[in-house]
Amino acid sequence: MLNNLQQQPADALLALIKLHNSDPRADKIDLGVGVYRTGDGETPVFGAIKAAEKKLVETQDSKAYLGPEGDMGFVEALMPYVFGKANPTQDGRIEGMQTPGGTGSLRLAIAMAKRAGVTRLIVGKPSWPNHNQICADLDLEVFEFGHANADGKTDMDAVRGAIAQAQPGDAILLHGCCHNPTGIDYSNAEWDEIVGLIAGKGILPIIDLAYQGLGNGMEEDAYGLRRVIASVPEAIVCYSCDKNFGLYRDRVGALYVLAAEKDGLPKIMSNAHALARANWSQPPDHGGAAVRLILEDEALTKQWLAELDEMRDRMRLMREKLAAAGKTGGVDLTPIGGQNGLFSIIPFTPEQVQAMRDKHGIYFAGSGRINVAGLTQGNIDKFIAAVADVTA
Ligand code: PMP
Repeated sequence: MLNNLQQQPADALLALIKLHNSDPRADKIDLGVGVYRTGDGETPVFGAIKAAEKKLVETQDSKAYLGPEGDMGFVEALMPYVFGKANPTQDGRIEGMQTPGGTGSLRLAIAMAKRAGVTRLIVGKPSWPNHNQICADLDLEVFEFGHANADGKTDMDAVRGAIAQAQPGDAILLHGCCHNPTGIDYSNAEWDEIVGLIAGKGILPIIDLAYQGLGNGMEEDAYGLRRVIASVPEAIVCYSCDKNFGLYRDRVGALYVLAAEKDGLPKIMSNAHALARANWSQPPDHGGAAVRLILEDEALTKQWLAELDEMRDRMRLMREKLAAAGKTGGVDLTPIGGQNGLFSIIPFTPEQVQAMRDKHGIYFAGSGRINVAGLTQGNIDKFIAAVADVTA
């Protein structure tokens, strides 16, 4: 039976890790995998997480099941950061649940949208590949529009066109901030326009917020999401704590639903809970509990936010250095300065990507996506010189 299965392509980024690991050159650079790195190239556990974990080990007195919604203390403690302190539940119209990472949340959101009658997901291209993979697995049609222009800015004409042709029964997936893979985010004015276009269209916004705090700040990075939430009857938010708390493998995420009416929430959430039961039953507890302990404690919250600021500032500095290099060989690095988060795309040809690996020991995805956090004061000059060399 199982012999009938078709071979699936290997994960390209995992294959890249292997290539990088087997390169003996001491000055090789890994700009592939999507994790934050310090100026020393490490991905350490946050100090605030370590302190919260210690507290958790000392105080947790049971590991009995919590239910498909997970740790609701975690889910609720996060809401003022996501939706704003003024009215985090939008007068009781928002409810959430814990999920295994942002991926679990997206899986649940798209499955629930399909159950509710959504027949098509509108999404900018390129996007994080798992958006398409989840839709393919759920047999949901995808409608793609161009996300960015060659100048490294949003293609607003494509956004306008995609929304103009949208029909009730469509959902639209929007990256809240730190777009993966391009780093190209909507400006506040562009969000205002998008919100005006989708409000009243009868389409379901799904906001993927996987990098809050890594772009311009916790509040700044929530601008678009909050504008959408304030302007539409219904929406779903897929949240990940795996980057902004550095919890990657602990799989910490949340799903939030904005309902047209408060009274509609129990029915909607009963579907989200049933889907969770059928998929993973309950989310893993440890990471979410650690986040809750941070958010319940003023000193730990301060420590976490300071650690997050440091990450954002370091990536901003690397972006400024790349932008300052300007026209480098045959490419212009200037737009990278105005982009956000871990990723940007440099328009390398496949041959140039290969030359960066073979000649210079610099590894990143075939799409030209680089992880800006892989750059440091110690290797950025080498990177810029290599870009000039292979694109000349
Ligand atoms: N959305 C986007 C845009 C992402 O880049 C990622 C992680 N790479 C996720 C969601 C999911 O993150 P996780 O499942 O690791 O929490």
